[in-house]
Amino acid sequence: MILPGFEQHIEFSKIIQENGNNLLNIISDIMDFSKIESGQIRIKKNQFLANELLKTLVKEYSQKAVEKNICLRIDPNNLTEEVYVDNDNNRVKQVLVNFVSNALKFTEVGFINIGLRKENDNIKFYVSDTGIGIDKEHHHLIFERFRQVETANTRRYGGNGLGLAISKNLIELMGGEIGVESAKGKGSTFYFSLPL
Ligand code: ADP
Repeated sequence: MILPGFEQHIEFSKIIQENGNNLLNIISDIMDFSKIESGQIRIKKNQFLANELLKTLVKEYSQKAVEKNICLRIDPNNLTEEVYVDNDNNRVKQVLVNFVSNALKFTEVGFINIGLRKENDNIKFYVSDTGIGIDKEHHHLIFERFRQVETANTRRYGGNGLGLAISKNLIELMGGEIGVESAKGKGSTFYFSLPL
């Protein structure tokens, strides 16, 4: 019997860790979805600094971006003014994490910008990427549960098609609106706005 070498051990542990994380994500998505369906999600409002949340996200996900040779950054045109938001910061972060994870998954070259914009009495959070983009006819579909642009047969990317459905529900529970601007091959911008 040939014992695997040290490098192989590291390789295997990485695969196990990655699959473990994927499984954990699936379970937490399903848990969230059942809570939403049964009306048991509670929004816990607190005041937080939106600009700080964006910085945390860039810190937490930049390693993944580096591994893919993509630049993940705060939009150079981002709002410089500090904006305090009175809402559930964990849920806001959850939706942004979903956007950023998708952007990382569906982008091979270029950059991902995370930013903030003030629009009337709302604050708009957005994540834009230079990835594969989405045909207009699919824009509605992707916010429905278990829906993905490619079918299972042609699918090249992982995921379960629940992330955006959960995000839409969470944003609506927080009194906001979610949306996407995208065209096939032209990148995507996912955004949501919340009342200030
Ligand atoms: P998942 O990513 O697990 O498949 P989501 O609900 O988060 O589920 O996304 C649904 C679908 O929307 C994805 O499968 C993909 O087809 C499309 N999508 C989401 N984000 C992007 C993006 N940034 N670029 C291209 N397609 C995307």
